[in-house]
Amino acid sequence: MATIRFDVLTLFPEMFTGFLNTSIIKKAHEKEFIETTIVNFRDFTTDKHKTVDDTPYGGGGGMVLKPQPLFDAVDDLCKGLEQRPPIILMSPQGEPFTQKKAEELAQYSHLILLCGHYEGYDERIREHLVTEEISIGDYVLTGGELPAMVIMDSVSRLIPGVLGNETSAVTDSFSLGLLEYPQYTRPAEYCGYRVPDVLLSGHHLKIEKWRREQSLLRTWERRPDLLVTAPLSEEDRKFLAKLEQSQTRNE
Ligand code: SAM
Repeated sequence: MATIRFDVLTLFPEMFTGFLNTSIIKKAHEKEFIETTIVNFRDFTTDKHKTVDDTPYGGGGGMVLKPQPLFDAVDDLCKGLEQRPPIILMSPQGEPFTQKKAEELAQYSHLILLCGHYEGYDERIREHLVTEEISIGDYVLTGGELPAMVIMDSVSRLIPGVLGNETSAVTDSFSLGLLEYPQYTRPAEYCGYRVPDVLLSGHHLKIEKWRREQSLLRTWERRPDLLVTAPLSEEDRKFLAKLEQSQTRNE
């Protein structure tokens, strides 16, 4: 049995074909770490035109997704389950998606993801069907399919066994509250650009210290907001204080 099951409700199932049949996500399905069902909620419409949306009450432009097809599609997916899984609406109005949220979702064995399209949702979907709303950023996309893939991808790679190298998810940016340190590979010199000597030294303690400092430096330069909540040692704080002092001196 898969470790996590994703059920995705969408009007455009074909958008998921490439995503599900490529690279790590494809292998994760083959090895049965994850299981995905893509459901076209148009199949749950009851009229002969298979209508999923309608004009908004009160007037105005755009179309609004009707409640019935989504309610019925979710009921169908939850048939026989003792407890409903989280039912997550893709929405630019939702909680901003973060690595922490991906870690939280990876603890579940089943998630239902609802993808909108067109203008919006009938509010009763928000009020009475979904358990939460997630936004992948402060911009508006044409549909929730890309956000659903973002969530599935980031959650899947946290499932033990999905990544070949188990340590890579641990050192990734955000996992330890900081951005990842710079990485280099062969050759040691390329077009006159050299790999830092410490990485060629074979001295593991020095390499570890350099990586930690680079991680702190990079976060300090690019995402100082992360330093407010990152777990920092006394040594980390001394290093950051030195960075602050050198900046003050140079101003
Ligand atoms: N009128 C809506 C509003 O202002 O909130 C935007 C609708 S958008 C054009 C269509 C659909 O794309 C949304 O229902 C949602 O599923 C998805 N979507 C767009 N941007 C998103 C974002 N940043 N995060 C998550 N989902 C998004």
